[in-house]
Amino acid sequence: MSSPVLVIQTAFLGDVVLTTGLLSYLAERAGPVDVVTTPAAAPLLETHPAVRRTVGYDKRGADRGVGGLVRLAGRLRREAYARAYLPHRSIRSATLARLAGVPERIGFTGSPGSWTYTRRIPRPEGGHEAERILALAEPEPGSVATVSLGLTEEDRRRAAEWLVAKGLGPGFVAMAPGSIWGTKRWPGYAGLAAALDRPVVIVGGPEDRVLAESVAAAAPGRAHVAAGELPLRVTAALLEKARVLVTNDSAPLHLASAVGTRVVAVFGPTVPAFGFGPRGSTDRIVEHGTLPCRPCSSHGPPVCPLGHHRCMREISVERVLELVSG
Ligand code: SF4
Repeated sequence: MSSPVLVIQTAFLGDVVLTTGLLSYLAERAGPVDVVTTPAAAPLLETHPAVRRTVGYDKRGADRGVGGLVRLAGRLRREAYARAYLPHRSIRSATLARLAGVPERIGFTGSPGSWTYTRRIPRPEGGHEAERILALAEPEPGSVATVSLGLTEEDRRRAAEWLVAKGLGPGFVAMAPGSIWGTKRWPGYAGLAAALDRPVVIVGGPEDRVLAESVAAAAPGRAHVAAGELPLRVTAALLEKARVLVTNDSAPLHLASAVGTRVVAVFGPTVPAFGFGPRGSTDRIVEHGTLPCRPCSSHGPPVCPLGHHRCMREISVERVLELVSG
């Protein structure tokens, strides 16, 4: 039987994690939903209790271009969805829902494709991104966006096995030094790894492997590289066992929050006021307090437009160390 509700979210991994609050809210009211998402994010959602089925959309690979969009729309059309939610504000998502023949299409006012929607919801200007995404469902006042993952016993078993193989138990310090955007990477991770007196596990994807190894080299025998070795959900299961995650403003921040692990987040070219900061009462944010150039872009540019990258370079290891230990 088809799910009557489709959610299209093909943004970055962190955005997909923050969409789980909306998915859970919708599922509580109408049963598990179907989600169109990226191949990278699909494994994260396919075991989520609010999700009936994920549909991978490889918009930059196998499904790229108009042909890929039309083919996917044809597949979705056969499912005869009654309603589509469009948290990703792209014209591509809007076109996909329309071509798929979904009669009710709900997105944010002001999105590039909003003229194709049948219902436009004002996007809250402030607040956390998870709450802003939840606003699409027009929730009852006081509703909270509960961000969560659907980790399986197998995910947890594999994480536990990896830790045993490294001679580690719970309580290590996890670090996520990578980011797609160069200026979001705090350069102090190696110094922090060296200064800690606890085991360190460095997480990330295959693209973070070289950086992770350079961080681990600062604490030989005590720092271990998981980046590029474990699938996404197993990485999240590993984070679940960590005492704390030190991270940039990037997807691992949201993974750790979703599994209830304390976060120390280093913000450079972006600011928590954008709505992507950690929300836990014991989480901590580290940022430069006085630089007038902050924030300099919504995502963080690849290189510092002023050439000095002071927003990150002037955040000391000692400052982060204090918050990790606190
Ligand atoms: S311009 Fe300022 S905020 Fe932007 S990367 Fe450079 S130092 Fe950081």
